[in-house]
Amino acid sequence: MDRTEESLAAALAGGDHQVNLGFDGLHARGQEFQSVVQALGATAFALAGDEENVRALFLPPLITAENIKKTNYLASMPNLAGEVESFQGNDKDHRRLVQALEEGGEGWEDFFSPTGLVNLPAACENLYPLYAGRLDEPVRVGLQSWCFRFEPSPDPMRMVSFRMAEQVYIGTEDGAAAHAHSWSGKLLGLLTDLGLDVDSESANDPFFGRAGRMLAGAQTENDLKHELTVQLYPTRRTALGSINLHGTMFGENFGITLADGSPAHSSCAGFGLERAAIALFAFHGMAVADWPAAVRDRLGLA
Ligand code: ZN
Repeated sequence: MDRTEESLAAALAGGDHQVNLGFDGLHARGQEFQSVVQALGATAFALAGDEENVRALFLPPLITAENIKKTNYLASMPNLAGEVESFQGNDKDHRRLVQALEEGGEGWEDFFSPTGLVNLPAACENLYPLYAGRLDEPVRVGLQSWCFRFEPSPDPMRMVSFRMAEQVYIGTEDGAAAHAHSWSGKLLGLLTDLGLDVDSESANDPFFGRAGRMLAGAQTENDLKHELTVQLYPTRRTALGSINLHGTMFGENFGITLADGSPAHSSCAGFGLERAAIALFAFHGMAVADWPAAVRDRLGLA
């Protein structure tokens, strides 16, 4: 295999699957790529078909500052976070802003201030606040959302703006572990059916700084995160998705309790829709018509 980030980016651009918008990791997508992303999202939702109590929610790419502050994300990965600002000034400020823009735009951001909204880094972080209070029965929800992480890169697999499909459980400790196990198998099964040679590996979140490395150590020790990876490049594997056990972190932070008053446990399993689509184009060819029939059938792309 001699695939590189550059050769993959060039092949995707050649198929009109990826159009760079002037910033590493920020891309428009063509019609065929979009149809694969939509098929992957629908197929992921359908994996939940036989489970009870399943709800599907399509989320906006934003979360309130109030809610993100309760997730530990700003403390553990501030370098990936993005805050939304807007102009809140008066007429005089506006005239100064217009003048700055007319003079080339230097310092335009100084006229903007926080809106109380933050770019959503992971779909499930918008879900927990909806279940604050006492749960009568476990929650199982399928989610899809646009997400933002500030890690610009020329690697087509690393985007600043991307879509994610997730399946989340909130309930008992045993239920959270069973959900993680079951969905690890379901996602591994789906990606394998799609002709991708996927492995499950123990992993860490990319926590920031020294304090973050200590958090990451605790995560590995407790085996709380697994990634589903493929060999897209010769010297390293790339994650398509992950399975995460959160313990009672979200239950405690958002005040979600079980019938006996104890904090709820949660787990989530999800994958990046663009990452999975890019892996499919990389392994099966840049035109869906050339893909194996079994792969197209599994996605309903006949
Ligand atoms: Zn999640």
